[in-house]
Amino acid sequence: MKSKYYAEPFRIKMVEPIKILTAEERLEKIKEAHYNLFYLDSEDVYIDLLSDSGTGAMSTAQWAGMMVGDEAYSGSRNYKRLVRTAQDIFGYKYIQPVHQGRAAEKVVLPIILGPGKYAISNMHFDTTRAHVEIAGARAIDCVVPEALDTEVYSPFKGNMDTVKLRQLIEEYGPENIGVIIMTITNNSAGGQPVSMSNLRETSEIAEEYNIPLLIDAARFAENAYFIKNREEGYQDKSIREIVLEMFSYGKMFTMSSKKDAIVNIGGLIGIKDDEKLYEEVKARTISFEGFISYGGLAGRDLEALAIGLEEGIEYDYLKYRIGQMEYLAARLDEANIPYQAPVGGHAVFIDAKKLLPHIPYYEFPGHALAVELYKEAGIRSCDIGSFMIGNDPDTGEQIQSQFEFTRLAIPRRVYTQSHLDVVADTLIAIKERADSISGYRIIWEPKILRHFTAKLEPVK
Ligand SMILES: *Cc1c(COP(=O)(O)O)cnc(C)c1O
Repeated sequence: MKSKYYAEPFRIKMVEPIKILTAEERLEKIKEAHYNLFYLDSEDVYIDLLSDSGTGAMSTAQWAGMMVGDEAYSGSRNYKRLVRTAQDIFGYKYIQPVHQGRAAEKVVLPIILGPGKYAISNMHFDTTRAHVEIAGARAIDCVVPEALDTEVYSPFKGNMDTVKLRQLIEEYGPENIGVIIMTITNNSAGGQPVSMSNLRETSEIAEEYNIPLLIDAARFAENAYFIKNREEGYQDKSIREIVLEMFSYGKMFTMSSKKDAIVNIGGLIGIKDDEKLYEEVKARTISFEGFISYGGLAGRDLEALAIGLEEGIEYDYLKYRIGQMEYLAARLDEANIPYQAPVGGHAVFIDAKKLLPHIPYYEFPGHALAVELYKEAGIRSCDIGSFMIGNDPDTGEQIQSQFEFTRLAIPRRVYTQSHLDVVADTLIAIKERADSISGYRIIWEPKILRHFTAKLEPVK
C-alpha cells in the first residue's frame, strides 16, 4: 500500500492527557508569564513545540532498560554497554557520558579556547555560543549564503561556507582559531543538513591549518538521513555507514543525547584518538559532572541512552520522523506561509520576518508570532531570531539576527498528524490577521542566554 505520507512505525501503549484552556485563560497565563513562553506551566500548554530536546517518548525497550540500571558508583554495566555502543556507531576510541549537551560544551570548550581565541562554526547553537564566550573566546558563524534566504531551495543549507572559512582563518590567524565547530544538523539555520562533501572539505581545511574540528552532533541521525536521500552516492548506504563516515571527519564531538538519541536527559563527549585530550576531559568531567562512569547520569539513564542511540538511527523511524516535518510543510505550502525551505530535520522554522514584515528586528517578530500561537490555540513554540541571539558581548547592543524564525520543534514519537493539522490551521488563522499583531520590548533581561528568563511587554 502506497500512501502519500508515511505512518508511525509504532503503536501507542501509554497515553498522557493534555487539556486546552479557554482563550481568556490563555491571555491571562501569557501575561502572568511576562510574555515569555519559557515561564508558562506545561499544563497550560495544549501542543508543546517549545523544544524537541528531552521531550521525546521512550520505547518499550528503553523503559525496560531503565529497570536494569546498575547504580554502582563506579564501573557500572550500563556505562560499559553505552561506551561499546557509541564506539561502534561513531568509530571514536574515547566516549564520556555527561548529563546533557551544554555540560559536554562546558567540559570541552575551555580546554581548547581562551581569551583572544575564536571558534568558527557553520552556526553556533545558543548554548555553544555561550560556552565559547564564557571561555573568554569569540564565536563566528560561517554558514553558506543560501541558508539566509528561506525561499531558495538548496539541499544542504546547513553547510559551512568553506571559501569564507579560509578567509576568516587567514584574517584572524590560524593560531588564534581554537576550534572549528560543525553543527549537524545546523539547528540555528533551521535544522538544515550538512552534506558529506562539505564535512569532508571542512575537515581538510581544518587539517591544513592544524585546527581541531569538533562536531556538535545533537542531530547526527537526522543529518545522515538527509545525506542518504539528497547526496549523490549515498542512496545505497545504510544510516550506520553514513554516520561512521560523517564522524571520521571530526576529531571530537559534543552531543546532546536529548535529541536524536531519544532520551529525556543525557549527553556525550567523543574523542577520536587524542589520549591527552581525553585525560583533560576526564578530569573536568569528574569536577563538574561526576565520576567518569556515570557523568551526571543514573545507571538507568545510561542504559536508555545506549538503546536510544540504536533506535535513533533506524531508517524506518527516521523516515517517519522527517515525514512529520514534510507533512506540516506541505500544509503551509498550500496556505503560502513562508518557512525555511526545504523543511529541516527537527522543526519547521516559520519565517516571521516575512509573515510579520511590519515588526522590526528589535521588536522580535519571531517572538511575537510565538506569543500569538499560544494565544490562538495553546501552542508553545519559540523565537530563533534577534530575541534569542541577544546583545553583543562587547558593546551591549542588540544584535540583528540573520533570521527571524518562530520554531515549531516537533518532539520525537509524541504528537500525531492531527496535532500537526491543529498547528497548520492555527498559523493560517494568524496569517489572516497578521497586520494587527504587535512586537515586544524587553523590560528585564539577564546577561547571558537572556531569552530563557527575560520579561517582556507588547509594544502597543
Ligand atoms: C540542544 C543542543 C545543544 C545543547 O544541548 P542541551 O542538552 O540542551 O544542553 C548543543 N548544540 C545543539 C546543536 C543543540 O541542538
